[in-house]
Amino acid sequence: MKTAAKEQKCVFFDRDGVVNRAPSPEEYYVLSLERFFILPAFMESLRIVNKKGYAAVIVTNQRCIERGLITWDELNRIHDYLRLSVKEAGLELLDILVCPHGADQCECRKPKPGLFLEASRRYQLDLAASWMVGDSETDVEAGRAAGCRTVRIAHPGAITSADFHLEDMSLLPDFLSSHLT
Ligand SMILES: [Mg+2]
Repeated sequence: MKTAAKEQKCVFFDRDGVVNRAPSPEEYYVLSLERFFILPAFMESLRIVNKKGYAAVIVTNQRCIERGLITWDELNRIHDYLRLSVKEAGLELLDILVCPHGADQCECRKPKPGLFLEASRRYQLDLAASWMVGDSETDVEAGRAAGCRTVRIAHPGAITSADFHLEDMSLLPDFLSSHLT
């Protein structure tokens, strides 16, 4: 009997505005654990992703590192808390990949697909069978550049080149439930 290819399908999630409450326009960045609030709809979505047998990876631009607004220690503290919350909910998150750079200095800052390609190298992901969920058009562009199907969470009437447009994160669990094969 032939063994099927073992490449893993994945759902990539942007962080701010998808995993956790988006920072206010004044704050712009999440600069401390105290300002990091996980969205229940993300945890529900992760449950679906796990159940459907997809890996889950977070890909996030955090230029606040480059700008010296937050230390790696504090960013890691936030991500350790996120990993612990996921674990305590009995769920699995494969990795969190961060671009800490400013614009045009690297190959990893979305809308470039570098973080996706790095995840694919590390974990043998099947990018063509994977999805990207984000709340910015740069997430959509990065996902498309990586060959993934794309979902944009954005207000009604937003202009997007995403394959799918959802008007609120609360709609994501049902969407994933019906669209992940
Ligand atoms: Mg975002």
